Amino acid sequence: MTYETQRKLICELGRRMWERGWVAANDGNLSRRLGEGLYLVTPAGVSKGFLTPDMLVVVDGEGRAVDAGGGLRPSSETILHLECYRRRPDIAGVCHAHPPAATAFACARMGLEEPLVGEAALSLGRVPCAPYARTGTAALAEAAGPLLEEHDAVLLANHGAVTLGADLENAYWRMETLEHTARICLNVRLLGGGVPLSPEQAAELEGG
Ligand SMILES: [Zn+2]
Repeated sequence: MTYETQRKLICELGRRMWERGWVAANDGNLSRRLGEGLYLVTPAGVSKGFLTPDMLVVVDGEGRAVDAGGGLRPSSETILHLECYRRRPDIAGVCHAHPPAATAFACARMGLEEPLVGEAALSLGRVPCAPYARTGTAALAEAAGPLLEEHDAVLLANHGAVTLGADLENAYWRMETLEHTARICLNVRLLGGGVPLSPEQAAELEGG
C-alpha cells in the first residue's frame, strides 16, 4: 500500500500552495481518493511546504487511519474531505486552503457569484459561500456539504475555500483560478463595480 505517485503529487501541490501564500503555518490540506474505500490525506501539524511522501496518511471512509507510516494523525479537516467524496462520486481530489483574497470574500460572507471573468465562469461556475461552522467539525462538513454537491468551488465563511476535481491536480488548478478571480474581483470593486456577462454570454461560454 504505497501509492508512490499520489504521495509525491500531494507533496508537490502542498509545496506550491505554501509558496503561493495560500496557507500559513500548518494550515490547509489535500486529499486523493484511492479506491476501495480508501483516501490519502495530508497529516495534521505539518506545513504543506515541507511534506514528505512518508508523512501522508491513508484513511478509511470513517476517517480512521489504516496506514500512518510517519506516525502522524490525519488532518483535522479529513471529515470535510470525506463529505466531499461521499456527496460527489465524480471527484477524486480535494484541496482546502486559506488564500488571502478568496478568504477575504469568505470573511465578508460574499460568494463569487457573478460571471465577471470569462475563464473563471467556465472552470468554476458560481462560487457560493457556505454558512459558518467551526473548523475541523462535522458541523462544517454539514454546512458546506449541500453546496459542494452542486459546485466545484465553495467558500467557507470566516475560514477559507475548498475546491474539487476529477483528480487532485484539477482541484488544485481550481483553487488557483479561484484565488486569481478573487483578486480580480477585489480590483473590480475598487473601480466601482464591473459589468457581469449577460446570461446569454455566460451560456455561450459554457457551450464552448
Ligand atoms: Zn482551513
